[in-house]
Amino acid sequence: MRDKKHIGVLALQGAVQPHKPHIEALGAEFRAVKTPAQFAEVDGFILPGGESTTMLKLIDRFDLWDVLADEFSKKPVWGICAGSILMAETVLNPTQKSFGLLPMTVERNGYGRQVDSHHCAVDGYEVSLIRAPVIKNLDPSVEVLARHENDPIWVKKGQFMASTFHPEMSLVFPSPMHKAFIDLNA
Ligand code: GLN
Repeated sequence: MRDKKHIGVLALQGAVQPHKPHIEALGAEFRAVKTPAQFAEVDGFILPGGESTTMLKLIDRFDLWDVLADEFSKKPVWGICAGSILMAETVLNPTQKSFGLLPMTVERNGYGRQVDSHHCAVDGYEVSLIRAPVIKNLDPSVEVLARHENDPIWVKKGQFMASTFHPEMSLVFPSPMHKAFIDLNA
């Protein structure tokens, strides 16, 4: 058992580096990870926001699907926006492959286009919804931690957490969501 948690942010594409100050403010170590050897060394994964289709292409191209699925079965995972899409059981608009870690359906770009991106407050903390998915058909076994306009935007089940918003863009460290994720790793 080491003294510091090592949190791996999947670094194939998307908003990776902005997580560093949040993770370090919690006394954990930030790791940008993209190889099986790096995956094996971390205690939990953040699947960052970005473009889920691009991430899927890179996962396939580098043949990372099976090793990631195996890692996710053993460690806490937090998917943010595109990352939450990768975690869903079913993806709509259009349908695409996903790891099925959380029993929910997500509709990609469910709030509209880039211009419809906006900020909102969750637990008094400013977060960003950037071409975010909308969570639909959430299984009752999944706990809803926050809603926006009535839709769940932050959910958790067991070692898995997903948020359709980005908290890492706010410059107040750490965000309550990073704290909740580190607590999941406890
Ligand atoms: N619209 C992106 C997708 O479908 C997600 C956007 C984001 O991660 N901010 O993958």
